[in-house]
Amino acid sequence: MKALGVVALGSRMGRGARTEMAVETDPKLLAELARMVPGQALVAEPMARHTSFGLGGPADLFIEPTDPSMFRECTDYLIEAGIPVTLLGRGTNVLVRSGGIDGAVMTGARAFTELICTDAGVRAGGGVSLPRLLSFCAENGLSGLEGLSGIPGSVGGAVVTNAGSFGVSIGDSLTGVTVSEPGGTASFIPRDEMRIAYRRIGLPSKTLIEGVELALDPGEPADIRAAQQETFEKKWKTQPSGMRCAGCVFMNPAGGAAGRLIDEAGLKGLRVGGAVVSDLHANFILNDRGATSEDVEELIEVVRERVADSAGVTLELEIEIVGRR
Ligand SMILES: Cc1cc2nc3c(=O)[nH]c(=O)nc-3n(C[C@H](O)[C@H](O)[C@H](O)COP(=O)(O)OP(=O)(O)OC[C@H]3O[C@@H](n4cnc5c(N)ncnc54)[C@H](O)[C@@H]3O)c2cc1C
Repeated sequence: MKALGVVALGSRMGRGARTEMAVETDPKLLAELARMVPGQALVAEPMARHTSFGLGGPADLFIEPTDPSMFRECTDYLIEAGIPVTLLGRGTNVLVRSGGIDGAVMTGARAFTELICTDAGVRAGGGVSLPRLLSFCAENGLSGLEGLSGIPGSVGGAVVTNAGSFGVSIGDSLTGVTVSEPGGTASFIPRDEMRIAYRRIGLPSKTLIEGVELALDPGEPADIRAAQQETFEKKWKTQPSGMRCAGCVFMNPAGGAAGRLIDEAGLKGLRVGGAVVSDLHANFILNDRGATSEDVEELIEVVRERVADSAGVTLELEIEIVGRR
């Protein structure tokens, strides 16, 4: 029987019995990968190289196919072989533990790179970087995403997390997504079959987003650039820049702001090892002075407990914590 399929970070799939050693020492598997995705499969690749926190132990395999059909062939093969497959975008919303990740981490950053104008707006591959999408919109006079300026990551990751800021989310402009399941063909899911909500898009966690369709308004490129710049400058003033982090750690609770609750609990500057709550924006935890993933995870728990004590609110994670302890 075929295994379940690809999953988003945080919930692995596969037959589950394979270990790091099994992957590293299976010559048939490695030879097959060398044939299917030559030069694109790395063994025991540190996830610290692929996350904005700059943290995380090795993935047994890290695979970055350069073409959609290679991506699908490789995923199908791994799942058939019982290797858990985990999807990664550009790693800007995840904390990977020091123990690394079982099985294969696959990113579509180089496979799903389509970026074209449509009658309604834009079609973008799931692997396109969000900043690149925003530049493309400005170049082509397409307005609607200016509030996303300054958010890193990929289009696929942004859609899965319904990324947004200053009252604008990518889901607001979404007309549908092209998705695929291992062993299956790609299909289009229109917006009205999705459950778009704050930081959620309502797709099953096994789904690979190959591309998205966005409806945008015509606008003057200069005005769009100026609006993007304005958003960017607001962020520079209110959020730490140039630091190792994953953006906001917690989701905003109903009717409030997580950052304000953390600030009111007096936690700005709170430190565990090399991890610290930002002085500028209390919902950002920074990898400062050589933090470990465990420092960050422990600090998250401390913040959560202190806010529960002081405000009676249990904060929910916006970032995902994944990997072997
Ligand atoms: C400095 C900084 C500022 C940030 N500011 C904001 C902000 O203002 N607003 C905001 O919402 N976020 C913000 N973020 C968080 C983050 O950038 C977004 O959530 C981002 O869009 C995630 O994209 P990614 O490619 O990095 O996803 P990843 O972190 O790689 O993955 C996130 C999730 O998406 C899944 N995934 C990724 N690609 C695909 C795909 N193609 N198909 C299916 N699943 C996929 C992964 O499995 C995982 O579950 C910020 C992060 C940083 C570092």
